[in-house]
Amino acid sequence: MATDLPKLKKFRLPAAVLIVVFSALITYLLRGGFRRFEIAPYHVPPAPFTDWSDVLRHPRDISLVTIQTGVVHMDACLNLDPTSPKQAACDHVPRDLAVLVHWVHHPRLGDFLIDAAFDDSFAKHPPYGNDTDAMKLFNWVNRVTNRQQRGEDLSAQLARLNIHPRAAFFTHLHPDHTGGVPALGPQTEFIFGKLEPSFLARAAVANHFLGKSKFSSLDFSAAPTMAPLGASIDLFGDGSLWAISVPGHTDDDIAYLINWPRPVLLTGDASHFEWTF
Ligand SMILES: [Zn+2]
Repeated sequence: MATDLPKLKKFRLPAAVLIVVFSALITYLLRGGFRRFEIAPYHVPPAPFTDWSDVLRHPRDISLVTIQTGVVHMDACLNLDPTSPKQAACDHVPRDLAVLVHWVHHPRLGDFLIDAAFDDSFAKHPPYGNDTDAMKLFNWVNRVTNRQQRGEDLSAQLARLNIHPRAAFFTHLHPDHTGGVPALGPQTEFIFGKLEPSFLARAAVANHFLGKSKFSSLDFSAAPTMAPLGASIDLFGDGSLWAISVPGHTDDDIAYLINWPRPVLLTGDASHFEWTF
């Protein structure tokens, strides 16, 4: 063994250089993770409701329009729990996943978005649009691509509908849900789960929030539990729009209930495809 030591010493310098270069590359790719957001707690109004049957007996004059801004083309099993029995049935054939933004109109409070989908960079620079370098690498390795028709982007559709959203609530911080943020004005408020902006989440989406400064977080650890759905927040204090904690796809994933005469539950990426339910 002692006779091999001089040989090993020869590799010390190249190994050190390799480690430094590799570390620098990883740091560069994940640089968005080092960005800090100044986040204030979301002001939760007093809630008059304590159970869902009471909530659903009192639908509100709130409306919902869902808008598609593009498509993610991906293996349907990529985000399915690796331990799920459904994995055995997976054919690994890529499928189209609609990239959606939801416009909520409240008669007194105005216009809001749930998620922000894609800005126009996905039509201008296919197939990765405004993804970070780290996400481009992830998508390339996993054969994930994005598609968008001209005029399908968030900005064009908001202009056509004459919507000026005050705030965007997020189901979670993944790039196909935040890619439209650059199309929103600097005064827009961005609201997400308190635990959601982890280092990796910031590394994946921080570039979308450059120039934005109004951030609020929803703290489900302090929210009332409403069986059978768990921690839930009455966002406007009138029972019209609810944030419901559904961790799983991400650490602080949120579903939103729009309580109009035909109530709708938006589940984000809790399940990407019908067959994975
Ligand atoms: Zn997601």
